[in-house]
Amino acid sequence: MPKQRYSVFALIREAMRHHSGWQRAWADATPRARYDVVIIGGGGHGLATAYYLGRNHGIRNVAILEKGWLGGGNTGRNTTIIRSNYLQDPSAAIYEKSRSLYETLSQEINYNTMFSPRGCLMLAQTEHEKRGYQRTAHANVLQGVETEFVGPRRVKELVPIINIDGPRYPVLGALWQPRAGTNRHDAVAWGLARACSDMGMDIIQNCEVTGIDRDGDRVTGVRTSRGAIGCGKLAMIVAGNSGALAEMAGFRLPIESVALQALVSEPVKPCMDVVVMANTVHGYMSQSDKGEMVIGGGADGFNNYTQRGSWHHLEQTVRALVETFPMISRLRLMRHWGGCVDMTGDRSPILSRTPLANCFVNCGWGTGGWKATPGAGWATAEMIARGEPGPLAAPFGMERFREGRFIDESVAAGVAH
Ligand SMILES: Cc1cc2nc3c(=O)[nH]c(=O)nc-3n(C[C@H](O)[C@H](O)[C@H](O)COP(=O)(O)OP(=O)(O)OC[C@H]3O[C@@H](n4cnc5c(N)ncnc54)[C@H](O)[C@@H]3O)c2cc1C
Repeated sequence: MPKQRYSVFALIREAMRHHSGWQRAWADATPRARYDVVIIGGGGHGLATAYYLGRNHGIRNVAILEKGWLGGGNTGRNTTIIRSNYLQDPSAAIYEKSRSLYETLSQEINYNTMFSPRGCLMLAQTEHEKRGYQRTAHANVLQGVETEFVGPRRVKELVPIINIDGPRYPVLGALWQPRAGTNRHDAVAWGLARACSDMGMDIIQNCEVTGIDRDGDRVTGVRTSRGAIGCGKLAMIVAGNSGALAEMAGFRLPIESVALQALVSEPVKPCMDVVVMANTVHGYMSQSDKGEMVIGGGADGFNNYTQRGSWHHLEQTVRALVETFPMISRLRLMRHWGGCVDMTGDRSPILSRTPLANCFVNCGWGTGGWKATPGAGWATAEMIARGEPGPLAAPFGMERFREGRFIDESVAAGVAH
């Protein structure tokens, strides 16, 4: 059956027949014995990799294996901030590629991902931070990323609910990226899954990889909760579970897994139409289409694999933001949650070959990989298809930790959401 096109006419047609004619967005596949490429992880990055394998390289005999449900990992748990105002050149290149792919993704895959380029302010609340963001603004000019350092008055114009005269943390200015923003995370996962399924790829949920079969330095297949599956090439794209998967394959990754948490308030009338990040106090906030204030903070200070929130973090994050946004002290908390993120020492990702000739990893995005989803998928697909990293991925090989070639965004960005 030809794939249904989503449009206003389709909506009207379905409304007239009680929505009885919608097709399933993607087929529920049963695993086959072998694929050219097996991707472990049905999050945004795994799905984007599969999508660009098909779209850019014509590789369509692909399976995406997900132990739970599509997008149920960090993809469905993040606060959806998209920006590309990083300091280092390799970071700016991949995040800007990603941001620009997001701009047209909805039209390309015929699925509304609700991309909202509403702009993002990163507040400077100490002299040190002000100098840091001015430096980033200069770097961004050279990288072709449109940002600007703005003063406190402009910040107040953009965010009327902000208090710029806080006694401890006054707002001294901000790094402003007008084309940054947010989108809808589930929609990206579902839309990409639909596009992959349409190209004949198999999306297999409830399929946990429990072992990796090797012949010397080559992967021959994976063992899963739904049987053994052979593969020509393997990609591990499992965020906080990357260390566990690498161990199954017999190598180690320089990754630590920690919980990162977020929360939303009760819905209120529209009051803030940009994203604001306050990295000195470590909190950030945007308003969802439903009116909830979406708030995030820092990661846990100890390694763990949990996927839930905790009270002390909530208190810390909200306390941090109250001086800058006094109005949130009167809001009620609606829900909070956590995800398991994969952190590297330099807070930059790993897009890399591995000690196994036909096995590749995409991980280490830590607290900030949502914004990179299409760009990282593009770069990972290129690496799988060519057997070696292309220009976007090359700086992010894991050998950089051995060679001391760090891409230091921990000092540059401080916080990476
Ligand atoms: C609270 C929170 C807020 C965040 N906010 C932002 C933000 O505002 N902006 C931003 O850019 N980034 C943000 N991030 C980070 C971002 O969500 C992640 O970097 C990104 O979503 C990672 O995508 P992924 O596809 O690699 O991982 P995931 O979406 O986690 O996908 C990995 C998948 O692999 C599956 N898996 C694991 N092990 C196995 C196995 N053995 N077999 C089969 N499947 C397996 C998991 O179930 C999971 O679905 C946030 C993260 C969190 C937790």
